[in-house]
Amino acid sequence: MQASAKKVVVLGTGGTIAGVARDRGDTLGYTAGVIPIRDLLANVAVSADLELVAEQVMQLDSKDMNESAWCAILQRCRFWLAQDDVGALVITHGTDTLEETAFFLDAALPPDKPVVLTCAMRPASALVPDGPQNLADAIVLAKGLGEGGVYVVCAGLVHQACDVQKVHTDRLDAFDSGDPGPWGAIVAGQIRKYGRGHGPKVTIDPDIVERTAPQNWPRVEIVFNHAGADGALIAAMLEPAADSRKVAGIVVAATGNGTVSNGLESALLAAQGRGVRVVRSTRCARGSVTPVPGARVPDSRGLSPVKARIALMLELLGGHWFTSQQ
Ligand code: ASP
Repeated sequence: MQASAKKVVVLGTGGTIAGVARDRGDTLGYTAGVIPIRDLLANVAVSADLELVAEQVMQLDSKDMNESAWCAILQRCRFWLAQDDVGALVITHGTDTLEETAFFLDAALPPDKPVVLTCAMRPASALVPDGPQNLADAIVLAKGLGEGGVYVVCAGLVHQACDVQKVHTDRLDAFDSGDPGPWGAIVAGQIRKYGRGHGPKVTIDPDIVERTAPQNWPRVEIVFNHAGADGALIAAMLEPAADSRKVAGIVVAATGNGTVSNGLESALLAAQGRGVRVVRSTRCARGSVTPVPGARVPDSRGLSPVKARIALMLELLGGHWFTSQQ
């Protein structure tokens, strides 16, 4: 069967794209994750030869996304991708943590069929919502791509899971792919590829993710370097309350090219000495930490703090990112 003749399955997970405000002019005071995915699809024109299947997986404001929800999404992705007559998946998702879900799925899913996440910055109830166009563009990409991988479509641009980051609080084009730039664009229903091949991904035995209950995943926290950061937070973190999981890893959103204050560095090295894995990313919106000789805390190999946290969790589960197998 041709890829283009196969079904596209659209999984709804919530977000602003499914959000509703009392007043149509209100694009901020709304409730995310209200409108069912079936109703969202009713507003999207798709070519007559395309069979679409809709499934509501959850209705979540993605600020509340967590490891259990990732696993629920992963399980539905695996189910549908295993069907021979399914060519691709589209996932509607909130913008706030979309890049984290995309990065996680990229690591955990087989790379043979496309999975396209999309979203909106205005609720579905807005006078001019952006969701229907984003959803239509995501379906175009899913149907026509013909190669696997996890992508994000927003405001006409296509981003790869490894690069994409939400960079704006309210603009419709809220996403950016940093220095590599977007993978491509959707222009008038056509896919336009800009030339970047597949970016790197975490390698992991996907079964390990499913076999380990999310509540037993290693706990990895993110701390910031900032003026006045003295490492006291690290000391507190290493002495958790009896009922909470021990911290197994710390990502530091360092300043500039991975610098941290003397106090924070001492605390991080002490944590490392106690067996906690520590990784340096940067709080800068663009660029990544370039390793310098003698660095005592490894860098995130280009990942932002939130993605480095996921990579470190997966690595502690048996995957590879910081210990190269790329
Ligand atoms: N808070 C919303 C969410 O992430 C924001 C959005 O979708 O734009 O679900």
